[in-house]
Amino acid sequence: MIYTGNNRNLSIEPYEPCPCHLEKKFKFCCYQKAKDDTSGPMAKGFSLGRINHLIRDFYASTDFKTCFAFEKVQCSGPIKNAHSLQNNRILNVICENGHLYHFKPEIVDSGPTSVIKKIGKNDASTFFGFCDFHDTELFKPIELFDYTGGIQQNFLFAFRALAVEMHKKLRQLKNVKRMFTKRPRTMLDPQFVYMYRVAVSDVNDHQFEYDLFKQGYQNGDYTGLRTIHRELQLGVKFAACSSFAVRYDIDGNLINDTFSTKKDRMPSIYLNIYPTQKGTTNILISYLNIDSEVYQNYFKSLDALDAKNLQNI
Ligand SMILES: [Zn+2]
Ligand SMILES: [Zn+2]
Repeated sequence: MIYTGNNRNLSIEPYEPCPCHLEKKFKFCCYQKAKDDTSGPMAKGFSLGRINHLIRDFYASTDFKTCFAFEKVQCSGPIKNAHSLQNNRILNVICENGHLYHFKPEIVDSGPTSVIKKIGKNDASTFFGFCDFHDTELFKPIELFDYTGGIQQNFLFAFRALAVEMHKKLRQLKNVKRMFTKRPRTMLDPQFVYMYRVAVSDVNDHQFEYDLFKQGYQNGDYTGLRTIHRELQLGVKFAACSSFAVRYDIDGNLINDTFSTKKDRMPSIYLNIYPTQKGTTNILISYLNIDSEVYQNYFKSLDALDAKNLQNI
């Protein structure tokens, strides 16, 4: 990501907490190390293959295991590679001979891009976000039953989308922090500081939303979301489970300035698209009610679209 905007805040201030250790001030912690580091670009002269290998290794080393379930005392069993999409109900519908395709980030001659790669069903769309017990128990209402539009099902679909993304955001933050440790001079580089700022606010935003889901779950109150559901009369050959802040509405007006490093929270929408066993496709899009000021008009216009136009969007 190369940032070329005019944001200030692209240097780490002397008295702000050091990225490596939030209890210490930057000036008294890594600042001198950053100034003294004279190392050049990490992959100078490397082939693209080697650069991709290096990035994959680097990113792989940021993976971590956690359980995002709300009742931690119940956690049991190993943190498995949990599927962000239901294994039986979704992956079986879209896989062919046990394989499917996924998007994989890769650096090519023209820069970073996504390429489509074949992957085994059991490795697809997985992340270390739930213990064995919660992966099964928490999601039973959507794993074992057809979608009926109930608020608990909407809640669980949205929550899983949040968990998948939260795991990625935490990894991205770890990734930047590791870069700072390995190459301290990057702490003085506006582009890396920008990556750091974005990663920190992404994690904070997701944590805020996570806490709201937790509150709702613990109170047995699943009404904190607004969800649009559409069923397409054809089975798509892909599935998606993700949460993100929407930058433009369907008329191209800016809703969220997603490239900003300002402290304002970027509210997420939660998206699930998957083919059903009866040959149709479910589309679920939700936002938290507290974000209705940001998203209610957007959802109103999405809701007004017929199935075909919604599919296009
Ligand atoms: Zn430090
Ligand atoms: Zn657990």
